[in-house]
Amino acid sequence: MTFDAEHPDRSGCPAGNTDRVLDVLQREAVRATVFIQGRWAEAHPATARRIAGDGHLVGHHSHYHARMPLFNDDGIVSDVTVAQQIIHSITGMDPRPWFRCPFGEGHDDPRVLRCLAALGYRDVHWDIALEDWEPWRTGAAIAADAISGVRAHGDGAVILLHTWPAGTADALGPMIAGLREIGASFVTVDQLSRAD
Ligand SMILES: [Zn+2]
Repeated sequence: MTFDAEHPDRSGCPAGNTDRVLDVLQREAVRATVFIQGRWAEAHPATARRIAGDGHLVGHHSHYHARMPLFNDDGIVSDVTVAQQIIHSITGMDPRPWFRCPFGEGHDDPRVLRCLAALGYRDVHWDIALEDWEPWRTGAAIAADAISGVRAHGDGAVILLHTWPAGTADALGPMIAGLREIGASFVTVDQLSRAD
């Protein structure tokens, strides 16, 4: 399971949703990979610190959450470097080498990937997106789609989730139970041996 911890891109998201997500992961003893946006961490330092304190693997989700291909090379260096310092100073964790491009844009762009690599990062894309960012997506639907998606994909499936939608927090308990039922176990991306 991977989460993007960032400013919501929809209005009306419940305050404290990230803590609800972290509560379920803690209760279920699931370690996830959490890609943290620099500006979000600045605004929510206690929650960002909790992500690391709870034992999740900390990754980097840019500073401004802009589409990385829109930056020139210097722009990428500056966005990534600023957020890296913020994430490190708040969480105590160095997010390298784990990076997730906002909106996934740039994950197949050689220039973006080369710039990220020069900064010590590799992009972590996903296999299964659940549209958990859409406000009409219920927890039940997100959980059901996660389970069928992982069943179809098989081993090593990377699931994309977000920390701010209410539906995601609602989905997590049943999702974890259902995935365990089909034999899944939960690892962080550093435990996956993947070429991408
Ligand atoms: Zn994002």
